[in-house]
Amino acid sequence: MNFLEERIVKDGVVKEGNILKVDSFLNHQMDINLFDQMGEEFKRRFADKPINKIVTIEASGIGIACIVARHFGVPVVFAKKTQSVNIDGEVYVAEVESFTHKCKNQVIVSKKFLGPDDHVLVIDDFLANGCALQGLISIVAQAGGTVEGIGIAVEKGFQQGGRIIRNLGYQLESLAIVDGMDAATGKVHFREQ
Ligand code: 5GP
Repeated sequence: MNFLEERIVKDGVVKEGNILKVDSFLNHQMDINLFDQMGEEFKRRFADKPINKIVTIEASGIGIACIVARHFGVPVVFAKKTQSVNIDGEVYVAEVESFTHKCKNQVIVSKKFLGPDDHVLVIDDFLANGCALQGLISIVAQAGGTVEGIGIAVEKGFQQGGRIIRNLGYQLESLAIVDGMDAATGKVHFREQ
């Protein structure tokens, strides 16, 4: 088990409905030393890529993205969620369905902060069905930029997102891939990587 898998076993809580709660260290209270280890690991895995920007989605991707960004020495741009948008030509827009909140949001990024010269590492806390990632990929594509890679903390391997994104040809690196979990026993099963 790697450092993140160990932490999930120690502090993660399995909820009904295939939800893994990691809010004591990942997406509510945040363990910055853990994020720093994650940043180091992503830097190692994407060492050969010319990354000049990190893109994530609010809210829970932002903390991780900021610490990861220090390892790459690049800025972070986060896609903002909004219920509706007056598309005035100043923003890129994508539609994202929230797995946890079961609603649809539009996410936007200002055209000022993403363009054809950008080589992007996309970072997020969770990958489930891949909707959030597909929205972010669409926004980078609209900007004419390049997605150099995708770094995820926790991938739920029993949902379709990982397979879809890898089939599209992206280098997707998930630090922990959960292949199954059981709310009754609290057990989490990780994929061997
Ligand atoms: P996707 O768009 O891939 O279906 O879901 C990704 C988003 O849903 C993530 O940004 C994350 O916030 C949320 N999410 C999906 N599954 C879980 C889960 O098991 N636990 C938590 N805490 N968030 C999740």
